[in-house]
Amino acid sequence: MPLLNSINQMQDEMKEWRHDLHKIPEIGLKEYQTSDYIKKKLKEWDIEYKDGYSTTGVVAWVKGNKGNSNKTIGLRADFDALPMPEKNNFEHKSTNEGMMHACGHDGHTTMLLGGLKHLNENKDFDGTVYFIFQPGEEGFGGGEKMIQDGMFKDFKIDEVYALHNWPELPLGHFGVSTGPMMAAVDEFDIIVKGKGGHAAIPELTVDPVVIAAQIISSIQTIISRVTSPVDKALISVTKIHGGTAYNVIDDEVKLSGTVRTFKKETREIIEQKINETAKGIAKANGGDAEILYSHLYPATVNSKEESLFAASVAKEMVGEDKVNTDIEPSMGGEDFSYLLNEKPGSYLYIGQQDSEHNAHLHTTKYDFNDNLLPIGANFWVSLVKKYFEK
Ligand SMILES: [Zn+2]
Ligand SMILES: [Zn+2]
Repeated sequence: MPLLNSINQMQDEMKEWRHDLHKIPEIGLKEYQTSDYIKKKLKEWDIEYKDGYSTTGVVAWVKGNKGNSNKTIGLRADFDALPMPEKNNFEHKSTNEGMMHACGHDGHTTMLLGGLKHLNENKDFDGTVYFIFQPGEEGFGGGEKMIQDGMFKDFKIDEVYALHNWPELPLGHFGVSTGPMMAAVDEFDIIVKGKGGHAAIPELTVDPVVIAAQIISSIQTIISRVTSPVDKALISVTKIHGGTAYNVIDDEVKLSGTVRTFKKETREIIEQKINETAKGIAKANGGDAEILYSHLYPATVNSKEESLFAASVAKEMVGEDKVNTDIEPSMGGEDFSYLLNEKPGSYLYIGQQDSEHNAHLHTTKYDFNDNLLPIGANFWVSLVKKYFEK
């Protein structure tokens, strides 16, 4: 199936929405302007919706007129931005100081709005499509909160799908895996407790800096010696805080970092080993360690059948050679994982790279590729049509 003409004709219109959204990036479940923008479009098109999920989240729905099937599908777009300055100078650059759409969620929202508008005007399908507009993906667990606020209780949603633009893939290519796509994300703090004193009288102190150094090196070997080399996992210590002067040994040093895993067992063993290693080393040196460990997003794991189905839709649209069904999972995190923990479905990457779009996600020069808008909207429409024909 080539790209639908009616969607291609919407490209300029979609570009306008995308630029409008890019100008008003918002973060942290406080995306009021963005949520209002989405709802304004829904009202304009006379589409039913329910809001208030996870503060600013919105679920809209369109029922087909081809029969009485109670089959449903949920399509999700995230709409939050990042707390970082934008260094682009184009006309649609951020007008909200210190906030930027550097992950392309403005594009995700626009692609879904495009698909929604088309499906609302072409209801020749048998079933109901739910459009899930989700806030707070960037670390605020908006996906989990929408579920806690009853999204799946209010609506019978059988399967869920999401797209994320991917600057490492050429424009219009798709990447999906039939299993893990994104890692589970954990964070930890290790407070190394020693005994401070004069730097020139170390025998009277328990130096937390020396203990911290040993802990940093040792926990790296959890990855090489405790977990299997074929099981992807990482530990990064990203912050060290301690000390006040050249000639003073401090009482405490604080280490912080992140852990990324795919399997539940691996996640558990790494947490346990960080605890044992930090405490063991601290105690062997006469000190102690307190570990604060928190689980953020679970791993994003696609279900097989649904991923192969979504890939088949993409292949028919852009060609077999442009769809990689065996893409390497990313060590990044994604809160669509909470939706996939409840429902079968798939999370796909959609390539956005061309000569003008080489910037990586979360960088100050990033911008969503507008040429991707009709491709993404088309994918949603094709997915829905094929899904209800299954
Ligand atoms: Zn992001
Ligand atoms: Zn993102």
